Amino acid sequence: MTRDLSDLHIHVGGAAAPHTLWSIAHEQGLKLPVADYWEFRELVSARPGKVKSLDEYLAVLHQWTERIQSSPQAMERSVHEIIGKEYRSSRVNLIELRFNPMKRNQGGERDLDHIIHAALRGMDRGVLEYGVQAGLIFCLAREFEPHLNEIIVEKAIRYQKRGVVGIDLAGTERNALELDPAVVGKYRALFAHARKAGLKTTVHTGETAGTGAEGVRAVVEQLEPDRIGHGIRAAQDESVMALLRERGVTLEICPTSNLATRAVSGTAEMREVLQKLWRAGVRFTINTDGPYLLDTDMRREVEMLRRDGVLADEQIDQAFRWAREATFVEGARPA
Ligand SMILES: [Zn+2]
Repeated sequence: MTRDLSDLHIHVGGAAAPHTLWSIAHEQGLKLPVADYWEFRELVSARPGKVKSLDEYLAVLHQWTERIQSSPQAMERSVHEIIGKEYRSSRVNLIELRFNPMKRNQGGERDLDHIIHAALRGMDRGVLEYGVQAGLIFCLAREFEPHLNEIIVEKAIRYQKRGVVGIDLAGTERNALELDPAVVGKYRALFAHARKAGLKTTVHTGETAGTGAEGVRAVVEQLEPDRIGHGIRAAQDESVMALLRERGVTLEICPTSNLATRAVSGTAEMREVLQKLWRAGVRFTINTDGPYLLDTDMRREVEMLRRDGVLADEQIDQAFRWAREATFVEGARPA
């Protein structure tokens, strides 16, 4: 088994420890609707069994963790702690942390550059302390007005030399991209612009049943991302899997997350999906999505896949080798 684990799909909002968020909330004097720490822990959890859908999962993230993390100090501390925790718990030595800077500035009340600099400082500290490699990905939001997403892309380009390695598009899909030409044009131009500037791109899609394999196809054809967040619905369609293979698009698979949001019914379905992708020659990686929100870490993701026979050891090793090949961080060491 490889010891060099990586995590290419992990949200700052779902990865900070409850005790860190608790401490930050107190530092900022935030009023919380709980009597004690234990109630708070429950409040910020979206573990399997508690949430029933992606929308419920995103609600926990939005209502609490993003709010608590909405200051430069909170961002520096969160990013620093997440990198350290991933290394200590699972020896993750390559990490791409993602967040939406505009969901951390209290609706424009805080300065975006301060938030971004703080996240970069937190990353620098984590990288230095643990000798790991890291990069930041800025998430655009499907629910945002186009001009807000444009600003996020400009910020990502501006901070590229400092350690911002790519952009992502996140949020619940209401319909497949191809069904709405206005949406397509908007994102297509933004993604092309980011690519031209040297940023890498990934898109959350094919996670929920909503848009199915066709949603994945639309994203690949229209936005031409390097990677796809989740994308498990591609397994429903041979031609979509062929498209992913031909274009060399790597999927960022997040097993516990998919179980929690009921994107798959259980480990049996997850096995079926991943084995289909494997047979079709689609490259995929294993990621945590939101380790604290979901009560997991990379070590436990791997253990679960092995224990429940979802993937064989050599397939898990291959997924981590693919991660080194698909990472947005330049000069990443091979596993
Ligand atoms: Zn995600």
